Amino acid sequence: MATEKEAVMSAGNEEPIITCKNINKWFGSHHVLRDVSLDVKRGEVIVIIGPSGSGKSTFIRTINVLEEIQNGEITVNGIKLSDNVSDIEAIRKETGMVFQQFNLFPHMTILDNLTLAPIWVRKWPKSKAEKIALELLERVGIHDQAKKYPGQLSGGQQQRVAIARTLAMQPEIILFDEPTSALDPEMIKEVLDVMKTLAKSDKTLLVVTHEMKFAREVADRVIFFDGGNIVESGPPAQVFENPKHERTKLFLSQIL
Ligand code: ADP
Ligand code: MG
Repeated sequence: MATEKEAVMSAGNEEPIITCKNINKWFGSHHVLRDVSLDVKRGEVIVIIGPSGSGKSTFIRTINVLEEIQNGEITVNGIKLSDNVSDIEAIRKETGMVFQQFNLFPHMTILDNLTLAPIWVRKWPKSKAEKIALELLERVGIHDQAKKYPGQLSGGQQQRVAIARTLAMQPEIILFDEPTSALDPEMIKEVLDVMKTLAKSDKTLLVVTHEMKFAREVADRVIFFDGGNIVESGPPAQVFENPKHERTKLFLSQIL
């Protein structure tokens, strides 16, 4: 039987869920994204690698409009990004983001962290939001921590809460920006395991990470970013075993 993921990915000539066409971004005079174009299929798992400062974070942040672009086109699940506030809100509903520093609300319990947005943005009744939140906490293996505050949890647990909080809004797309980079080594696996499970679901994932083993195992496509552009892109076996570009080879030789 086809998995959820195989079913969505083989659904045929469906429109890409994300389309970026020649996007450009400057911070002042610093040209940070240079004509970046990318189509992402529904259900696809893309891992983005590349040196520090190459524009990886800026790129994924443009997709949920945390960064403005100066030119180019972004379409997310059929919604074309414009200056229109309702388009921006609609795109944000389709995309969740998980950050390196978890970004949980420190003064709220774990459960309240998960229910806040569904209650205020999705307008769910508290009982429904709490039921779903507890199911998600169970899924990431921390349902027994629901009444605690973020500061009482380990980094790995906090990041799993952050993933559950993102899932609570039921986004189609989840953007991860170095989700394990702030974690102690022994906690990295518990977060990657949750991400591996997600990778098998029908969600579309874009993951910026330095975890190359994870990339090899779960990516449908690996993208190497350098100098504000996509230098190379392909299945993990090709990018890791047989990189075409010197810059990719150099980067991989430094980190592997
Ligand atoms: P990466 O995630 O690949 O390390 P970033 O996207 O964070 O790279 O940064 C790309 C470039 O943009 C870097 O030179 C960085 O210093 C610069 N930059 C990032 N954010 C800002 C900002 N808010 N203001 C000015 N420059 C920024
Ligand atoms: Mg970054």
